[in-house]
Order: sequence, then C-alpha cells, then structure tokens
Amino acid sequence: MRQVALVVHTLRVSRGPVASMRCVAQTTVGNRCLRSIGDGLEPAKPISMGIPSSASGNQLADRLADTPMMVYDWTHLSYEAGIRLAHQHCSFHGLNNEAVMAPSDWENFDALLHEAYIVRPDGWVPPRDPRKRSRPLF
Ligand SMILES: [Zn+2]
Repeated sequence: MRQVALVVHTLRVSRGPVASMRCVAQTTVGNRCLRSIGDGLEPAKPISMGIPSSASGNQLADRLADTPMMVYDWTHLSYEAGIRLAHQHCSFHGLNNEAVMAPSDWENFDALLHEAYIVRPDGWVPPRDPRKRSRPLF
C-alpha cells in the first residue's frame, strides 16, 4: 500500500509501505544495497493535515485543496535521519554519496496524480457540492 508521508518538509508518496523500502546505494562490490531503510528510525506518527493547494487551476485540485488527509509524519526525525529517509539510504550508508543503483521509491505528492492514495481521517464527510444544491420549491 502506498503511503503519503511528510519527510523533510515535503509531502511524498511511497511506492509501498515505508517499512519494506530498501536502500538504493551502491555497495563497495558494485551491487545495490538491499538493507532496510527503517533501521534505527522511530516510526512515523499518523497525523491529519490539509491537502496543499495547487497552482494548476484544475477544478479537482481546487476541490481537494485544504481538505484533510492522513499523513505519515516523519518530522520528529533529526535532520540527518530525515535526509537519509528521503534519499532512501540504510543506516550503514547514511548520508554518504554512493552511486544510486535503483530509482527512488518516493514521488513528490501531487493531489491530482495521487488522489487514489489519499486516506481521509475517520469521520470525515466530504462537503456537499454547491452545484448540486436543490432549488427552493417556492
Ligand atoms: Zn545501504
């Protein structure tokens, strides 16, 4: 399941559960490191936050803007740990600049592209569409 996460002040969408993400750094023998990136990281806290508005002028984006969604909040991490998570490095590779051996499992969040992965807080009810408001009968 893809997750919307707040990592180093940026909303990102993972390709799968963050706990299953593997390091993308090149090892000393030239292979991709496959260690988990979650080693030593305090787990994320689910929070509710407003969907950022888009400059696209798209009606769907405007409808989604400022409505609440659940986000895995990683802002409690130290700056170094947050950068390591954003770069998808294990604790061994940390902030090193080894070659990257695989595409990132993170994408920057875009409400239009990632609407299917938006999880709403429990009890949230979408606002009524004002265009569907019934006319008075008198
Ligand atoms: Zn690694």
